[in-house]
Amino acid sequence: MLTNDELAKWDRESFFHPSTHLGQFARGEAPQRIVTGGEGSFITDRDGNRLLDGFAGLYCVNVGYGRTEIADAIAKQAHELAYYHAYAGHGSEANITLAKMVMDRAPKGMARVYFGLGGSDANETNIKLVWYYNNILGRPEKKKIISRWRGYHGSGLMTGSLTGLELFHKKFDLPLAQVIHTEAPYYFRRPEDGMSEEDFSTYCAQKLDALIQAEGPETIAAFIGEPVLGTGGIVPPPAGYWTKIQAVLEKYDILLIADEVVTGFGRLGTMFGSDHYGITPDLITSAKGLTSAYAPLSASIVGQKMWDVLTEGTDEYGVLGHGWTYSAHPIGAAAGIANLKLIDDLGLVKNAGETGAYLNRAMQDAVGNHAHVGEVRGEGMLCAVELVADRDERRFFDASEGKGAKVVAAMLKRGVIARAMPQGDILGFAPPLCLSKGEADQIVAATKDAIEEVL
Ligand code: PLP
Repeated sequence: MLTNDELAKWDRESFFHPSTHLGQFARGEAPQRIVTGGEGSFITDRDGNRLLDGFAGLYCVNVGYGRTEIADAIAKQAHELAYYHAYAGHGSEANITLAKMVMDRAPKGMARVYFGLGGSDANETNIKLVWYYNNILGRPEKKKIISRWRGYHGSGLMTGSLTGLELFHKKFDLPLAQVIHTEAPYYFRRPEDGMSEEDFSTYCAQKLDALIQAEGPETIAAFIGEPVLGTGGIVPPPAGYWTKIQAVLEKYDILLIADEVVTGFGRLGTMFGSDHYGITPDLITSAKGLTSAYAPLSASIVGQKMWDVLTEGTDEYGVLGHGWTYSAHPIGAAAGIANLKLIDDLGLVKNAGETGAYLNRAMQDAVGNHAHVGEVRGEGMLCAVELVADRDERRFFDASEGKGAKVVAAMLKRGVIARAMPQGDILGFAPPLCLSKGEADQIVAATKDAIEEVL
């Protein structure tokens, strides 16, 4: 067996890691963790650590680690039929069954599900469907997509453009011209202290309306948003936000894409975030929670209104030319079936709501009044702690100080993984949906101690 040092050397010399500081990593200046296993909410590594994963990987291992039901389903599928494509009407029992299960759980008004591999490609699919739809309807100029600053929608060419975080644009010549960004629904960073949440929602809707007017409503095809902003800081929307935004979109006949890659399949305590906030999307993007990351699989869920136009289009123009080799991969589908069954059998949607509320309350009680905590916020099994230089004046730390990353490092010493969100000093928590109250207490205690140590 390789020693830890040998493996770490191969890692530095061979492996191009995603979202990593390349130079620091290659020079051995950045952290390396070689993960060996997982059980429930915990992972283990080659240095002998057992860590409580307060971020469920990348908010995706929703049923927790080490679920033999899913591993067995994957193995069985691999033995029976590892792969056959899904082009031109081909299917397998696994992907057809999963399609039925997804549609049974989808919000009202949805018609079909298209399977891809991950959140980014599912969003690419949805944008292509929006363009196809408008071309079929004879309005080829209606193509621009509006997303929000701080939104995260992936890191492909189009999806990286939709993402409203500078880190994902810088030096990549993004965003592409068809993408424009509007105000983030980030109440904590509202422009004026006196605004209520409802006022701020009205302000966001007015900003959106003004942007649409300035660009020309006939050029705007769709608006994309996460029910709760995720990677941009775990920010639940202010009161009334989605109702006001949807009213603007309806006025200008603009489609709504709900990016539910994080919120889909239970994280907010409802099956979809759209159910939670009364959103009626034309398209839904989902991935992570669909298989709890036991295999890569995404689902673009298409609403009836769009489906009718897409079918009209193929009647006129022939086959819809969009597909990946691995669309609806049977192994991913087998993982998805076993995962959704587990979510039902273990009552994990309910637990996400209840234990998530417990985690958020306990976090608020433990650190909410700390001089350097501006806000504790969350929804369902999502929680964030925003660190500030001065809480009364909402004055932020200089980003170069990396306070969030320092607190996260101090938490690791206490056996708990949190995520320093990519912009701002925000500690993010998105534990597995099977988190127990005792584990929630452990996360909170580590956060409190680490904040006291660093700040
Ligand atoms: N959309 C949202 C809301 C996400 O959070 C993510 C990933 O974190 C994506 C899309 C992209 O998904 P993937 O990384 O699977 O491509």
